[in-house]
Amino acid sequence: MQAKRVLTLAGDGIGPEIMQQGTRVLEAIAKKFDLPLQIETALIGGAAVDVEGQPLPESTLAAAKQSDAILLGAVGGPQWDTLPRPQRPEQGLLGIRSQLKLFANLRPALLFEPLASASSLKPEVVAGLDLLIIRELTGGIYFGQPRGVETLNDGEREGFNTYRYRESEIKRIGHVAFQAAQRRGKKLCSVDKANVLEVTGLWREVMNELAAEYPDVELTHMYVDNAAMQLVRAPKQFDVMVTGNMFGDILSDEAAMLTGSIGMLPSASLAESGLGMYEPCHGSAPDIAGQDKSNPLAMILSVAMMLRYSLQYPEAAAAIEQAVADVLTQGLRTADIAHDGDAIIGTKAMGEAVIKALN
Ligand code: NAD
Repeated sequence: MQAKRVLTLAGDGIGPEIMQQGTRVLEAIAKKFDLPLQIETALIGGAAVDVEGQPLPESTLAAAKQSDAILLGAVGGPQWDTLPRPQRPEQGLLGIRSQLKLFANLRPALLFEPLASASSLKPEVVAGLDLLIIRELTGGIYFGQPRGVETLNDGEREGFNTYRYRESEIKRIGHVAFQAAQRRGKKLCSVDKANVLEVTGLWREVMNELAAEYPDVELTHMYVDNAAMQLVRAPKQFDVMVTGNMFGDILSDEAAMLTGSIGMLPSASLAESGLGMYEPCHGSAPDIAGQDKSNPLAMILSVAMMLRYSLQYPEAAAAIEQAVADVLTQGLRTADIAHDGDAIIGTKAMGEAVIKALN
């Protein structure tokens, strides 16, 4: 069997230390399940600026295009903030996302039972929460033309953006969402504002048409204002939600916070080819970088998502998620998820604990 190629891009700040733990877990799971994986590394972000003078070197992009999946740590840090914009670390991330045409963003909000008290909502509202938000990432009002700010004849300025979706764009994100629902609880809620915006009326129509291809998935629709409310009122009613770029931007942050800690949240961005990039939702946390204080679990859960969505090893993914649940049940905590009286462990010890739980 041909080995699947995984490219790791550690990046900056806490990126390298969480990636080290992510890679160790990946190696451990590959050994346990006898998975043919080939792991390579390349530079991105400030680390690439320091060595190559640019945040997304050609060699990194080429390696990314040849891989089956990419793991990214985080990029950015104050030492690069004064560089001209094209050389800033964040441009490396934006560049790789657009070059690889990563159009589907998957953000799970999974609340591990022992962390229920970390949520700002009542434990009974969030205990057992397990939802997945799928956001269209390359279209909609963030990219629509025409856009700009103009001075009108009467001298007043007017800003404008254009909200457009082609049918084909809606279809391809729709397929991702229906297929994700098939792998989970088989419920899909499509979020729009079809009562006001024609473009999302089309969105709703196309989702209804696609539903015929997925008879095992129950499709419902919800207006975005109601969805925002339901997410904090009764978030457990949702399994998979799919929505456009702008609504998804807002709802995915809202859903993420239901779980209470940024150090626990993985994400995936997928291209049509099946290639995906997997990364924690958090940034490079320069304030704690290099101190063995960061929580590697978002990175480790990103590894699990990669195994599930790009490499098609769902059992291996589930084993990692179970190992993470086990270490939390054992009471192991990094500082960001610790409460009064909890003993705190470091990045490395957390990675080791997950590997021990796996075995
Ligand atoms: P951040 O997510 O890096 O940090 C916010 C806070 O959360 C900090 O107090 C940090 O210590 C804490 N934190 C984040 N991840 C943690 C973890 N795994 N374990 C424990 N604590 C954690 O956001 P920020 O401070 O706004 O940005 C810092 C840098 O990261 C900036 O240069 C920014 O541009 C960059 N950034 C990168 C990404 C990315 O690579 N995807 C995303 C957001 C921000």
